[in-house]
Amino acid sequence: MPWCEECSKYFVPNALTTSGDCPKCGSTISQSNINGKPIVEIVTPETLDLRKLASLNGNQERVPWHFKLLVAMLVAYLSWRVVSLFI
Ligand SMILES: [Zn+2]
Repeated sequence: MPWCEECSKYFVPNALTTSGDCPKCGSTISQSNINGKPIVEIVTPETLDLRKLASLNGNQERVPWHFKLLVAMLVAYLSWRVVSLFI
């Protein structure tokens, strides 16, 4: 979340100027990712990458195995419910 030291205020990324500066005072804003670590490069609307912001230590987060199992079981259950309509 972009934070302006001089205004003592948080900004959403869309509220910043196109160069990534504060819309009120115009100072360069330090930004941090979702884990609170500072981002070296300034995020602008052109360079905004949500996957990169949400990643931990630069690694891509993978879908957990139990979520895949849940989706597979849901598909099997719903398929059975459709089949049971005609039996
Ligand atoms: Zn400001």
